[in-house]
Amino acid sequence: MTERPETTSATPSSEAPESGITPGDKAAFRDVLSKDHARRGKPPVHLTDMDEQTRIARAQELGLPKFRVKQLANHYFGRLETEPEAFTDLPAARREDIVSAFFPTLIEQTAQQVADQGTTIKTLWRLFDGSHIESVLMRYPNRTTLCISSQVGCGMGCPFCATGKLGLTRNMSTGEILEQVRAAARMTRDGEIAGGPGRLSNIVFMGMGEPMGNYKSVLSAVRQISAMPPEGFGISARNITVSTVGVVPGIRKLAAEGIPVRLAVSLHAPSDELRDELVPMNRRFNTTQVLDAAHDYFLASKRRVSIEYALMRGINDQAEHARLLAKRLNHYGDDWAHVNPIPLNPIEGSRWTASKPEDEQRFLDILHAAGITATLRDTRGSDIDGACGQLAAKTRESFRQAS
Ligand code: SF4
Repeated sequence: MTERPETTSATPSSEAPESGITPGDKAAFRDVLSKDHARRGKPPVHLTDMDEQTRIARAQELGLPKFRVKQLANHYFGRLETEPEAFTDLPAARREDIVSAFFPTLIEQTAQQVADQGTTIKTLWRLFDGSHIESVLMRYPNRTTLCISSQVGCGMGCPFCATGKLGLTRNMSTGEILEQVRAAARMTRDGEIAGGPGRLSNIVFMGMGEPMGNYKSVLSAVRQISAMPPEGFGISARNITVSTVGVVPGIRKLAAEGIPVRLAVSLHAPSDELRDELVPMNRRFNTTQVLDAAHDYFLASKRRVSIEYALMRGINDQAEHARLLAKRLNHYGDDWAHVNPIPLNPIEGSRWTASKPEDEQRFLDILHAAGITATLRDTRGSDIDGACGQLAAKTRESFRQAS
């Protein structure tokens, strides 16, 4: 049996382990771990993994004055550069070793797919230990959104999800998370996505993994995505979405941070009976606890919460499910949540499959009639906005088909 660190507190502390183990009552739920969980060492330390004091200390070890740290951060966040030749303000003979000390290569592109007339670019990245993650860049008329991964695999074990089948390998470092952002910001700036040069405007943590299972690194990434250069990429916190399958202590902790990011909760079922089956984490934090926390997040952040709901044929897509979902959301009042029903991206050979179009429409109609704002995701790249792991599953499958 795989050994795992103990977690005894219901609230993750700032000392939260890097294990990816989610907090709470372990008797009710255990993260599903892949065979090689946590046996891969730690990624090299990157500028974005260091606090200010550590950056200065690292610079001093290299014999550099303090002001160089700001120059390095400017290159990274402001100009999106990590190539030594771009660091013309550093002594030429020192560029290589300084850059490798602060900007080790953390992610390497191994495949890329372009879809939707060049407006969707999916990238498969290899990490230092040979594991893989994905990110997806999507261009819309009024925004450019990047969907990023925060863990290698996922430990939540949802039976309808291909990523869940992998189990959790490990948490990603802040540097690994942010390198996805830098790469996409550069591609957008340089016009490598259809629509010409532009600016990366939105980030969604809806790729591989449960962001709340890697809280510390995700939060540090959020702070550095939203801070202005040279402290961060300068993407408004209001344009960042953090998703969760319902890790209540994580939702509550995020609310207390006072950062106006949007919260997305992958609910997928309106009752505990059904959700216990679809989302095993529900046995640790049930629908009442999750919805209470989501509504409290709305009150604290004044941001409408997204409720993600993957529609599965004959399982959770019937009129009774829509009615119960509307009732449960309306219990908390009006206009606090936005439901995103998403057509399921089924795993081949699984009993979970996508809803019939007429059932999708009825589901939506019932929500609307009950006064709930709801938008059915389309099935192009934009469905990536809607479901954790669904993206990773789809991306991996399409990479497989292409190779
Ligand atoms: S649906 Fe989301 S939370 Fe569940 S296993 Fe897949 S990636 Fe993890």
